[in-house]
This record gives sequence, structure tokens and C-alpha cells, in this order.
Amino acid sequence: MPTETTAALPTFADVQAAAKRLQGQAHRTPVLRSRSADDLLSAQVFFKCENLQRAGAFKFRGAFNALARLEGAQRQAGVVAFSSGNHAQAVALSAQILGMPATIVMPKDAPAIKVAATKGYGATVITYDRYTEDREAISRELAQKQGLTLIAPYDHADVIAGQGTAALELFEEAGALDALFVCLGGGGLLAGCSLAARALSPDCRVYGVEPEAGNDGQQSFRSGAIVHINTPQTIADGAQTQHLGQLTFPLIQKNVTDVLTVSDAQLVGSMHFLAERMKLLVEPTGCLGFAAAKAMAPSLKGQRVGVILSGGNVDLDRFCALMATRTAA
Ligand SMILES: *Cc1c(COP(=O)(O)O)cnc(C)c1O
Repeated sequence: MPTETTAALPTFADVQAAAKRLQGQAHRTPVLRSRSADDLLSAQVFFKCENLQRAGAFKFRGAFNALARLEGAQRQAGVVAFSSGNHAQAVALSAQILGMPATIVMPKDAPAIKVAATKGYGATVITYDRYTEDREAISRELAQKQGLTLIAPYDHADVIAGQGTAALELFEEAGALDALFVCLGGGGLLAGCSLAARALSPDCRVYGVEPEAGNDGQQSFRSGAIVHINTPQTIADGAQTQHLGQLTFPLIQKNVTDVLTVSDAQLVGSMHFLAERMKLLVEPTGCLGFAAAKAMAPSLKGQRVGVILSGGNVDLDRFCALMATRTAA
């Protein structure tokens, strides 16, 4: 792909084009309401349930959009991605649907269940030692040697545009909102959703939400330059990114109101609420937005509030173990 097209910042038109490509492929996930959530926040809360998306997270949107755009030799050679999490499965499933080969680079000690799921979608899994080897270098070498196209997890225009369709659907269904809370790792979801917000609900305040232990996005947003951190210790494994991207950062700077943080204990409290009151299984990272909205409730009184629940991939043993750590709050 010519570098110029990949380097250009995606626009709302790209989000709309992605929505067309995803029609009949991604689930149009429900926007759920809850009387208990409304009472808790003294607001009208609209939950976009990407925990119910194919492969369990919004990542399918971006991955499918990026893969569907490949043509000719690129499509034939296939794709490579590095991830132990939701992006890996999203790329593997998208490749399977589109009849393309996929290679996923995963750590040797990745949970067997995730390796099995990725292989189950027909992908080739290549393992590496996360303490001594560099997954990005391995992926780039594979890409070069085998002519594979590297699908970056967040810093990729087509991935960002695809992720934005989650908010596009939310605004289509809920109408204009006063505030929107979006989980933040590398910023693909936030950047894409911010494009939809600016276009469809221009006055909506858009908040990115990170784990407290990994607030590189907040530091970057407030300082005006991309800040790098070491891999943060948090239960939000989908947001253990070390820095924002060259494409996601400028979009976040331009379209986002602020970047907020929440603690792991707040995430556990939110997981508990969503499971008990709404019967929704949401992974720790998927609760970032809701946890921040809860914490900000006094300033959201009477408002229309959107919350993206970004994913639901947490195995039940881990879910139970996390619930056991819950402190009365
Ligand atoms: C990847 C992921 C995120 C973070 O998305 P970015 O585009 O990297 O900001 C949030 N939640 C879940 C469930 C994820 O899988």
C-alpha cells in the first residue's frame, strides 16, 4: 500500500465507508439502557455493547475494514499481526472470512485458550519469547520475507476508521449525546469514535479513559507530545500500551475533550455492576469508560451519556478471581 494513503489521517467519510464494508459482517451491537445505571449516575446512560461483537470486542471492526481493503497480491499473500489479545483474534477471524492467510505473532506463554482460538480461526501462530525477543521486529521480518501486510493494532488509518463505526452506530441509535466515554489503549477506538462524535453530535464532550497505572495518553494529551511509558501493571490488559500512535494522537488532540484515568478497583466495581445489574460480561479494559462516568457522575446530572463497553473477553475463572478482590465501595 502506498505510504501516503496509510499515513493520511482518516476522516469521518472513512468511518462511513467502513460502516458500509462492515454491513452484514460485524454485528450491529445493541445499545442497552438500565434503570439502575440511570439512577446511579442521575443521567440517561446509553451503553454500546461491543462485548457482544464478533470475537468478543470492537477490534473486529477495524481489522475487517483494513483487510477488506487489501487487493490483488496483498490479499493473496495475506497479513501478519502481533498481539496476544483481541486484535489477534479479530485479524484471524477477518482473514478467515475473506479467505486470506493470516500469521499471528504471540508470546510463548500466551494463554492456551487464546492460542487455540486464534488457530481455530485458521491462522498460523508463531510464538516468541516476550522477555528476550521483539515481536514488532519479528513481524516486520515476516512481512518483508513473505510479502505479508502488517496490520497494526491501532496506528493504522483503516483500523481507526473501522473502530469509529462503533460510535457511528451509537449516535445513529441514541441521537445526540452530551458526553461519550471511550476506553483508551493505543487510541484506535478513541480516535475513530471522536471522528463520529464531531460529525454526528458536535457538542458532545468526548473522554478517553485509561488505567491509572498507564496514563501515558493523559500525559501526552496534556503535554502536547507523545509520551512513552513502560508496560503498566493493571488488570486492564487491553490498555497496557506504552504510547499513542502517530495517527491516533493528532486525532485525539483535535477531537477529544480530556483523558481521564481510573483505578483497577474501580474497574472491578464496574465489572460487578454490569454483570449483576445488566447481565453483561465485560472484561476489565471494557469497563474503563463506565468506571470514569461513574466517578464523574456529579457533573453528568440530567445529561445524555454514551459509554462504549469495548470487549467481553475474560475467562470465567479470572472473572471470579477479580470479583473476589472487590472491596465494598
Ligand atoms: C484494544 C482494546 C482497547 C483499546 O483500544 P485502542 O484502540 O488500543 O485504544 C480497549 N478495550 C478492549 C476490550 C480492547 O481489546
